[in-house]
Amino acid sequence: MNIDGHIVLPDRIMPGRLTFGPTITAMAPMADVPERYILPGFIDGHVHGGDGADMMDGVDAIHRMALFHMAHGTTTLLPTTITAPWNDIMAALHAVAEVMRTGITDGPEIAGAHLEGPFISPHRLGAQPPFALAPTPARVRAVIDTGAVRVVTLAPETDHAQTAIARFVQAGIGVSIGHTLADYELTERTLCRVCGAGGKVGGTHLFNAMPGIMARAPGPVTALMCSDAAYAEMVFDTHHVHPALFRLAHRTMGGRLVFVTDAMRATGVGNGPSELGGQAVMVADGVARLPDGTLAGSVLTLDVALRNAVQAGASLPQAAGLVSTHAANWLGLHDRGVLLPGRRADFVVMGRDLMVREVWVGGQRRA
Ligand SMILES: [Zn+2]
Repeated sequence: MNIDGHIVLPDRIMPGRLTFGPTITAMAPMADVPERYILPGFIDGHVHGGDGADMMDGVDAIHRMALFHMAHGTTTLLPTTITAPWNDIMAALHAVAEVMRTGITDGPEIAGAHLEGPFISPHRLGAQPPFALAPTPARVRAVIDTGAVRVVTLAPETDHAQTAIARFVQAGIGVSIGHTLADYELTERTLCRVCGAGGKVGGTHLFNAMPGIMARAPGPVTALMCSDAAYAEMVFDTHHVHPALFRLAHRTMGGRLVFVTDAMRATGVGNGPSELGGQAVMVADGVARLPDGTLAGSVLTLDVALRNAVQAGASLPQAAGLVSTHAANWLGLHDRGVLLPGRRADFVVMGRDLMVREVWVGGQRRA
């Protein structure tokens, strides 16, 4: 099959033709193409739910939230747990493992789970419910044995954390520092240790649920931004992070900055009451908050994040990197994330207005 349009590449936009089966087989420049953009399919490494469904509810909910986000351009995602009683978390991971085995008919790819909690700081929960647990060897083994986890968010200062990090790295699981009180020095030491062991390391929603940057306390944000190897997630709905801080992080991190949605159940549902990890949440004007005012996940989708990045000054190739290419590199998904011959034919067709028109997964039109 062929599709013609303005093909968004990492460094430029090329009017041309994409030829594909399940993978892209050829790409050639062409004059007089339709006024539309073709971008690599979006990859969301941190997403709890959408369309009224939360992945903690099990297999059917994972299907529902996955199809919702696919309609917004997401072709690969990591359903993300919330801090909850241990048995609920294990059940959710087993549900993700089951969906990975069966796949989602006419849906996006589930590339594993992101375990966000319980191995976080009880003092930096953000909107996570108070079920933080230490990553003891038995719990770490149980998590690894599910075979579902691709990324784990972890506070490096908690008991057992450093041993747990070594085990996760051995198992090929990405370690994302977050929901933490760690200072600059501990964060930097942890980054070095993971990289030295050949592992992947990142930060969970940069600036949120971690100490900020102070003159004599540069904190985990600075350690992540100044590292050569660490990736960092950002929830760029313009409420979680000021656009100026997006520009700062983008300038310093470039291809290591990764957009995620951190989207919750209420995403796509509209304003009104909702729920996050058993807690009441109110959504108003695109912001979800707990009763005490704490930001509670987001109601973001990656197409909106892409438009926010362009609004904040990013070029379209840069924005495509933020919602796709960088995540593919962070998550080790080397068969996607860029439109190139040999890569999966996962792509999004957008109008000149950057609204999603078509979504293709593995060479099949799915939305
Ligand atoms: Zn989250």
